[in-house]
Amino acid sequence: MYKTKAYAAASATAPLASTTIPRRDPTEHDVQIEILFCGICHSDLHAVRNEWSEFMATTYPIVPGHEILGRVTKAGVAVTKFTPGDLAAVGCLVDSDRTCPRCQAGQENFCPNLTLTFNSPDKHLGGITNGGYSESIVVDERFVLHVPPNLGLAGAAPLLCAGITTYSPMRHWGITTGKKVGVVGLGGLGHMAVKFAHALGAHVVVFTTSPSKKEGALRLGADEVVVSRNADEMKKHAGSFDFILDAVSAEHDINTYLNLLAIDGNLTLVGAPAKPLGVSAFALLMGRRSLSGSNIGGLPETQEMLDFCGAHNITADVEVIPIQKINEAYDRLLKSEVKYRFSIDMASL
Ligand SMILES: [Zn+2]
Ligand SMILES: [Zn+2]
Repeated sequence: MYKTKAYAAASATAPLASTTIPRRDPTEHDVQIEILFCGICHSDLHAVRNEWSEFMATTYPIVPGHEILGRVTKAGVAVTKFTPGDLAAVGCLVDSDRTCPRCQAGQENFCPNLTLTFNSPDKHLGGITNGGYSESIVVDERFVLHVPPNLGLAGAAPLLCAGITTYSPMRHWGITTGKKVGVVGLGGLGHMAVKFAHALGAHVVVFTTSPSKKEGALRLGADEVVVSRNADEMKKHAGSFDFILDAVSAEHDINTYLNLLAIDGNLTLVGAPAKPLGVSAFALLMGRRSLSGSNIGGLPETQEMLDFCGAHNITADVEVIPIQKINEAYDRLLKSEVKYRFSIDMASL
């Protein structure tokens, strides 16, 4: 065991502050990674403030962060995929049971016994796992991903959650050239969705409540931007979408968007509103439409996503901050005052 610097919250109301945490010494299958950048995901904030207590209560102190990008500093004797000096990335999970049907299918994200990167029971050290707001992390190589060398490192970090969360459902629902794709909500997730849908060859329409977001959406690769409050504009698109990705985590009327789907169209939720959404049966019945959800992705698909990003030069648009500005960044995140993701420069630690 060794000590490493980190930022942690001591309670649901305490700001994040500097601390030190224990990490295990790398075992034979582990790699030790010096963390260079860590993205700030909305889940970090939910966990720190214990806002998802019904589903996963937070154990304090908590070190959040699951958009981890760094460089391998040590590799265990049995490690085959990495050598010291390699770029490496870690996303939302650091372990699973590896034996269940989901794990065998490469869908570790749906394993009933997965170990999340933070706030999960730590099999090695006891207590809970500590995330990426830290100097280094030790992870079994099976849960560590390769990063294409052409990608900017600060912008590549958010691919590990925001990237895979939006890429996976598009692959599942067969988004390709000629499909019409809608994206609802232009934040950390939504802006990645626009980039992926565009790169996959789709016709991309962004829905936004604020006309001021129009230019940004077009620059990211949208073909059209619709102000969702404008009923006439919305009507023009009725029954025309193959797929809509809904990344809104606030309460909103989902039926408005279901009615924009074509026959057999699908709307996938990746945002997580706290209260149940009201769904009109008619909106689904008319046209055999479906409503589903999606949650990150398995390891093979996460690697595929990173390789796709390498081939298409895709990274998140980030505002890089030093760790000392983390509490301010959380406040701004709540007000959607970032284009489009924060990435923490861990050298500041
Ligand atoms: Zn996340
Ligand atoms: Zn499993």
